[in-house]
Amino acid sequence: MKRSKQLFFEAQKHITGGVNSPVRSFKGVGGIPIFFKQGKGQYLYDEDDNKYIDYVCAWGPLILGHAYCEVTRLIQETTINGLSFGAPSEIETKLASKIKQLMPSIELIRMCNSGTEATMSAIRLARGFTNRDKIVKFRGCYHGHSDSLLSSVSSEVLSLEEQSLGIPLAIAKNTISLDYNNITQVNELFSKIGELIAAVIVEPIAGNMGCILPVPGFLERLRELCTQYKCILIFDEVMTGFRVASGGAQQIYKITPDITTLGKIIGGGMPIGALGGRREIMEMLAPIGSVYQAGTLSGHPLSMVAGLATLEAISTPDFYSSLQEKTNILCEAIKDLGQRLSIPLVVNQTCGMFSIFFTQQILINSYSQVLTCNQNIFKEFFHGMLAEGLYFPPSSLESCFISSAHSLSDINITINAIKKVFSVLFKCFYSKNKE
Ligand SMILES: *Cc1c(COP(=O)(O)O)cnc(C)c1O
Repeated sequence: MKRSKQLFFEAQKHITGGVNSPVRSFKGVGGIPIFFKQGKGQYLYDEDDNKYIDYVCAWGPLILGHAYCEVTRLIQETTINGLSFGAPSEIETKLASKIKQLMPSIELIRMCNSGTEATMSAIRLARGFTNRDKIVKFRGCYHGHSDSLLSSVSSEVLSLEEQSLGIPLAIAKNTISLDYNNITQVNELFSKIGELIAAVIVEPIAGNMGCILPVPGFLERLRELCTQYKCILIFDEVMTGFRVASGGAQQIYKITPDITTLGKIIGGGMPIGALGGRREIMEMLAPIGSVYQAGTLSGHPLSMVAGLATLEAISTPDFYSSLQEKTNILCEAIKDLGQRLSIPLVVNQTCGMFSIFFTQQILINSYSQVLTCNQNIFKEFFHGMLAEGLYFPPSSLESCFISSAHSLSDINITINAIKKVFSVLFKCFYSKNKE
């Protein structure tokens, strides 16, 4: 890792913490972040010429793998005609109509440049539409880093929760955090202040505290209460949109949100975000309505073509069944290895996305349960896998991703590496006669 080390040293002189997004720093696992120079299909190549099977996939967007030929070809072709017009172009309508076709809850859409922008605008829109201020979110869900969604007060004590300085209490006070999958807390909150709530925002399958599935009835109850109290249900599908099914998590659970936020996959690896939903709500946005939202580079031609090519590629008949099958094979093998090698763990998974939790617990359904998982074992696991040529997310709170480029042979290589690493973990952490 000579060159990565040197490049990180240089980067730290010029870029805060040497990285342009905190999780890249390896703070969660220790050691020096790896600098990459190439991605190809399922593989990443670092600056020291090591090759890895990639289970990060740029944190979700690269569902087709790195440098998918149709995507890169169209990007190259598009650049020849100019990079950005700051005026409408046809490709924006093409991507919009493709998204609507795949996700029928979206009647109108607005493109922006990141998931953070999408959720920020979605809650402004919900507040404008309902003329209310309060937002409900769930602990462990991540909706980008706008003030309202990064901060919160807990419903029990109305005291400030969570991490970032620089957010006025006056703003944080309007965001209430509840526990993911806790229907009782949701019922109680609504019966107390339901008329004040502008929106409930939720990851319908959580992916930012590791992968956590909604318990039966949770999303259904959110839908019922939002309808009853006339507040807006926002599904943040920036991660799950076109990852877990061709119509996102809302298709799997058969629930129609009022607004959906998207990002990641719909940009095919280029910067993107989008919000869309019911026509009467979306028509509140400028220039039709009086909720303001804008962006110099929004609907950027390169993001549009990369996104459209990606959505075309996922629209093939067996795309998701094949991705699901690979995910199943890997996850079943990990569970099996955990049992055989006496490593207590829980594996949560959905199509193309999974998490390994090192824990004695039987189920992991909430953020408080995630926080009880063993960090030291995760760190050893991460570095062990890295040494075997497998790039897993450098944080126990992030989901792993599989792309369509991953082959069954990659999955087998991965299973063998996990077997090796688990044996070492057993000796380090569980064996009674460790030296
Ligand atoms: C990644 C993500 C975001 C933020 O998107 P950015 O493009 O990083 O701003 C928001 N919500 C969810 C669910 C995400 O996974």
